[in-house]
Amino acid sequence: MNPDIKQNDLVLMGICSDQMSSFKRGAALAPPAIRSALYSTSTNLTSEAGVDFSNNLRFVDFGDLKIADDIEAFMEIEAHVSTVISRGAIPLILGGDHAITYPIMRAISKRHGPIDTLHFDAHPDLYDELNDNRLSHACPFARIMEEKLVKRLVQVGIRTMNKHQSDQAQRFGVEVHELRHFDINTFKPDFNGPIYISFDMDVLDPAYAPGVGHYEPGGMSVRDVITIIHKLNVPIIAADIVEYNPSQDFNNITAMVAAKMVKEIGGMIIKNTP
Ligand code: MN
Ligand code: MN
Repeated sequence: MNPDIKQNDLVLMGICSDQMSSFKRGAALAPPAIRSALYSTSTNLTSEAGVDFSNNLRFVDFGDLKIADDIEAFMEIEAHVSTVISRGAIPLILGGDHAITYPIMRAISKRHGPIDTLHFDAHPDLYDELNDNRLSHACPFARIMEEKLVKRLVQVGIRTMNKHQSDQAQRFGVEVHELRHFDINTFKPDFNGPIYISFDMDVLDPAYAPGVGHYEPGGMSVRDVITIIHKLNVPIIAADIVEYNPSQDFNNITAMVAAKMVKEIGGMIIKNTP
């Protein structure tokens, strides 16, 4: 373990796992690609809200963990995350496909209890199972809600709701903000306590972020999601950025967007937890 991790440090860690992807693998290659976009000299390391990650004593780059293609290794993601949060640090996790959020949340809820969660996604990810796989990247929030790892689950950007997932959302009391009714000017995140952020890159329109496994047109703009993140006024105790797939990207456009999200989400983490 990195001995330099301290209380409230922001720890960037990659979890290279895409074994639970149902359609296209490749998200396991995301963390190094996002990191090289983040450190690219074509831009700088200061977030729009003014947090500078260069020479920032609270910013620790933990590197990447490669997860073997079996269920045991997949569930060990929980222990990897526990290692970081046992020091009181705040992990900003790069996936990987969205399946990793389930073992991550098991670690988070063990330390912090069930926590309110803001989930950006084109998809509700509430399938009971997909292709006989209950750990599929289409299912993480069904497992999370069943095990009561989250108190309030607030979903933004949803545009693929079907009957089964609508039933699941009702059963679990998920607060779904479908994009067809969404108004960026009136939307206010109304969290009271600390939150977890789960950011699936396909919440964005494929025009902004083509490097994802599942193209779902009619999505959000980069500016809209940044606006929501800047409105957050509560501590963020951990976050993930998942589903970037370099094999689908053009000229690293989506890698740059993911790196931008690292800076903006990471910036709010540092701002809101002084
Ligand atoms: Mn997802
Ligand atoms: Mn998605």
